Amino acid sequence: MLGLYIHIPFCEKICDYCDFFTIQGPNRLHGEYLDLLSREISAFGKRHPGVFSQVETLYLGGGTPSILSPEALFRLFSILGEAGVPLLSLKESTMEFNPESTDSERLSVAVENGITRASLGLQSFRPELLQAVGRRHTPESGLAALEQLLSKPGLRVTTDLMFDLPGQTLSHFLEDLERLSAYALGHISFYGLKVDPRTRLGHRLEKGLVQVDEDLYGDMYREGVKFLESKGFERYEVSNFARPGEESLHNLNYWRRGQYLAFGPSAHGFFEGVRYHAPDRYPEWRRYVEAGCPENLLTRDPIGQEEAIAELIQLSLRTKYGLDVAALQELGARLPEKSVSRWVAQGYLKWLGGNLVLDGDGWLFMDTVVADIYSNLE
Ligand code: SF4
Repeated sequence: MLGLYIHIPFCEKICDYCDFFTIQGPNRLHGEYLDLLSREISAFGKRHPGVFSQVETLYLGGGTPSILSPEALFRLFSILGEAGVPLLSLKESTMEFNPESTDSERLSVAVENGITRASLGLQSFRPELLQAVGRRHTPESGLAALEQLLSKPGLRVTTDLMFDLPGQTLSHFLEDLERLSAYALGHISFYGLKVDPRTRLGHRLEKGLVQVDEDLYGDMYREGVKFLESKGFERYEVSNFARPGEESLHNLNYWRRGQYLAFGPSAHGFFEGVRYHAPDRYPEWRRYVEAGCPENLLTRDPIGQEEAIAELIQLSLRTKYGLDVAALQELGARLPEKSVSRWVAQGYLKWLGGNLVLDGDGWLFMDTVVADIYSNLE
C-alpha cells in the first residue's frame, strides 16, 4: 500500500513540551508554504510519473493542519488533486485538528475534499493540566470541537490524550478516559509525556519548577489499557486503541513497513527501499525547494538487509499482530531462543500462531524487549 503524508509546520503557539519541527509563523507564510509544497510535490511527480494515482491513504499532520484558513485548505487539496491523488476514492484520508481551529467552514472543505477521518488533539479535560503543558485550548473548547467533528456525517473521529503530565494523578487520567468514552468514538490514542530537556517544559523541570511523577507512568498505562478494553476498544498498537474495523490504515502501513511519500519540512517518507526526509527546518526546506528539490539535499537512508531486520522487529512488535517469524527468516535472521524463552516465561511475550507478540508488562518495556531480541539475533 502507498500512503501520503503532508506536514503542515505551523502552530498558533508552541506547546511547552513540543519537540516537533513546527513554527509559530504568521499566517502570511501559509501562502508561501503552499507554493513551495506544490513545487516539491510536482518535482517528485516528474521524477516518478503516475505515482500519486497509486496513493491509497492520506494523512495531513503537523504542526496544526487545521490552522490553514478554509481557502488555504482548499488550495492544499487542489494541489494534491492536480498532482493525481484520487482524493475522493482513497481508502482513508485523515486530517489533524486542534480545538482552537476546528470550525464548520474548515470541516466542510475537508470533508468535501475526501477527508474521512479527523484526529483531534485533546490531551486532557482538566484546565490546570492543559495549562501545565502550555496548551491553548480549554476543556470546554475541546469538547465543543469533539462534538462538532462527531456531528459530521460519515466522518470517523479519533482523539489523543496524554498521561503522566505534571500534577496529574491516576484518577485524573481515568476520569479523562471515562469522559471520552461517553462519546461515540471508534478510536482513541494516549501517550505518556516524554520531556525533551530542550523544551520549555524541560527547562522548568530542570529548575525544579514542576515535577512529573515517573512512578505513575506504569500504573496509568496499565489502568488506561484496562479501562479502554472494558469499553470495547482493543490495543492494536502500543498507544492506539480501536473498536473492530476502526484501526488507522495509514498508520498500520507505517508499522508494516509499507511505502509512503512525505512532503513538507521534516516529513519522513519510505519509497523504493529508501527512507528519506527533506530538511527539517523551514528556511532550509525553502532553499531545497527553490533549488528544484535535488535528491542530494535529501537525507536518504537506503534500507539494506540489516536495517530491514531491525525495522521488522521494532515496528511489528509495536502492534497486536506482532513479529512474523517466517518473515524474519526470509530476511535471513533467526530469533534468539534463549532470550525469547526468558521473556515468554516472564510474561512479557507470547506466541500467537507463528507470531511473537508483546504481553502483560512487555508493552511497557517494549524498548528493552526489542533491543534484547535484536542484539541477540542468531
Ligand atoms: S499543537 Fe502539537 S505540533 Fe503544535 S506545538 Fe503543540 S504539540 Fe507541537
